[in-house]
Amino acid sequence: MKESKYNIYVEYKDQYLVFNSRTIATAALDKEAIDILEAVRRGESIEQSDLAKQMKRVGFLVDDEADELQQLEMKYNWGKYQPSGLGLVIAPTMACNFVCPYCFEGMQTGILSEELQEKILSMVSVFAKDGQNVDITWFGGEPLLGKDIIYRMSERMMEICQKEQVCYEAGIVTNGYLLDEETILKLKKYKVTSMQITLDGLHDTHNKKRRLKNGSGEPTFTKIIENAVRAKEHEFEMAIRVNVDKETEKELEPLLDFAIEKGLSENLYLGHVIANTDSSKSFCDNCLSTEEFARTAVNFEKLLFKANLPTDYPVPTRTKCGADYLYSYVIDADGDVYKCWNDIGIKENSIGSLKNAESIDVFMENPNFNYTKYMTWSPFNYNKCRQCKLLPFCMGGCPYNGIGIGEPICENWKYELEEYIKLKCDAVD
Ligand code: SF4
Ligand code: SF4
Repeated sequence: MKESKYNIYVEYKDQYLVFNSRTIATAALDKEAIDILEAVRRGESIEQSDLAKQMKRVGFLVDDEADELQQLEMKYNWGKYQPSGLGLVIAPTMACNFVCPYCFEGMQTGILSEELQEKILSMVSVFAKDGQNVDITWFGGEPLLGKDIIYRMSERMMEICQKEQVCYEAGIVTNGYLLDEETILKLKKYKVTSMQITLDGLHDTHNKKRRLKNGSGEPTFTKIIENAVRAKEHEFEMAIRVNVDKETEKELEPLLDFAIEKGLSENLYLGHVIANTDSSKSFCDNCLSTEEFARTAVNFEKLLFKANLPTDYPVPTRTKCGADYLYSYVIDADGDVYKCWNDIGIKENSIGSLKNAESIDVFMENPNFNYTKYMTWSPFNYNKCRQCKLLPFCMGGCPYNGIGIGEPICENWKYELEEYIKLKCDAVD
């Protein structure tokens, strides 16, 4: 037996903590456990005590011949190509009722035609017949500007999945402005159960950035919050993303207090605003570096902890996201298909168009560069990731960012993981 190469040790409050990044097991080590680790480090064979068996079960110890990096690489590749359900991000329209400084999508118009809707439905049917579960995210633009399309397609997809006896799940990413009572009830009827809404700080800061396109100057914050509260009352799984830059960073504490007061704090998380599109580069004087964001995020976790709210912790992952999973696609309102939702609407980044394709197989048979660049992107191609103890849950970070810059970009865990481990230890004390 040997020590896992993914053990990370932290000394904290007279304790010696170990965290394994492959299994996410975390423990305080007692003298017996430390003796076992020291013995295996010296290459000595150890007695098969209950403790040693338990340390192996949670990943702190591994078999002598185990090559953990190879195991990870195999699972990563398997996760990319092994069908585990169809994931579609669909924009019923690319139009938006907001004009936010970091977004270009609202400038686009047009809705998903009936012909394209039928193509997507037959794609869903093929996968469902093959026993694949179906997971839909409604996206945009602002998807609720195309709500009739959402209702119509949802009804059909629910029928298909019921007939083929596979699971159907759906969520929506919305600015929340159009979420009136009727819309909420309809979304519920059509099995949209989760929702992501974004805030850009407290009232004044948010209102300055997230403005209505109609030029009325009417503030949006209060209405979004009222709508989010209403959706929460109807038991939607609500995630509130708070965009963090140098300005909103200062408002996180009062914003958390406000969210607690409104009952919206359960899944409040921070989004790092970075200039990853040409259109967003102009506002990035205000952006935080990854290190700065990591510090802000861990300080925010401490606030959550103080407020008795769930805190963040790494989770084991096989692939990073839909972009590097073969059966996941993003479809815009013109029927152009992408791998990453950051690419949506940027035509030169599409992997093909449903307009000219009989089925999605056509893209797979003759994949273009936009397709292959995501599917062949791998953190295992980079020494810094191969040697990194965070690889099992980081998996090289966001492929979009990594491809853009030419190498994986470390995420905030890299800078503050020890703090998260200590917080975890405090939580179980
Ligand atoms: S590549 Fe990055 S931005 Fe695109 S879906 Fe994946 S994590 Fe998100
Ligand atoms: S991107 Fe950075 S933190 Fe992530 S695995 Fe690679 S080297 Fe480690």
